[in-house]
Amino acid sequence: MFLWESIAFGPIHSRRLGRSLGINVSPTKDKICSFNCVYCECGWTVNTEIRPEYFPPAPLILEAIEAKLQDCKTKDIDIDSLTFSGNGEPTLHPEFGKIMDGLLVLRDQYYPNSLITCLSNSTQLYRQDVREVLMKIENPVMKLDASSEQVFQLIDRPTVPVALAEIIEWLTQFNGQLIIQTLLFKGKVDGVAFNNSSGIELQLLVDHIVKINPRHVMLYSLDRETPAKSLIKLPKEELEKVADVIRSKGIAVKVY
Ligand code: SF4
Repeated sequence: MFLWESIAFGPIHSRRLGRSLGINVSPTKDKICSFNCVYCECGWTVNTEIRPEYFPPAPLILEAIEAKLQDCKTKDIDIDSLTFSGNGEPTLHPEFGKIMDGLLVLRDQYYPNSLITCLSNSTQLYRQDVREVLMKIENPVMKLDASSEQVFQLIDRPTVPVALAEIIEWLTQFNGQLIIQTLLFKGKVDGVAFNNSSGIELQLLVDHIVKINPRHVMLYSLDRETPAKSLIKLPKEELEKVADVIRSKGIAVKVY
């Protein structure tokens, strides 16, 4: 499995975001997340303790980002997106708001045409301060993989007490100013078979998306090695079928 070894990395070519400069505010030697997704490219969430001292301090993070931006500028490298992603859930960082405010200044200084993206698992949206920080940026990309509580607990495996219904409620508070990212796949976990792209599961998923009414939905399937071994990637045609169902409700969808 894979961990990013630096705070600022890339830019890498992202299927979804173009030239994306990655920002990892989690530790570089460990994954810290409030989910333990069966497909996580960082591997299983081994350490379920989430302590403030595990995270690099905001000034160190901003220093690393500025050095990277200066380097890219000097080399005339284009950047489309400054993207919070990395070894875990970025909104768990105790100084997430401070980091975002610093990044907004750096973006305007070095790459004013780039967008700020945060890939988040939505678990910290119960906090108003986290919601407000995410509402300051162009691309809050929020995870919604599951349709029913059972599938949510099976595939996203939260390590903090949270229910799918709560996450959906918090996502509606963005008043549509967000992007939903949904990983569609099937397989068997703990002896239980699931498929979040068909039947009642698909019906429920579409209902949630209609309620949240996002700017658009990103659909994709597995791309890299996964910690759980009995997972099956869906072909693009299957993703397109799901996309058509969501589009029929008047919501834009991009398939990757
Ligand atoms: S939310 Fe992201 S980082 Fe956390 S376990 Fe899931 S895929 Fe991995």
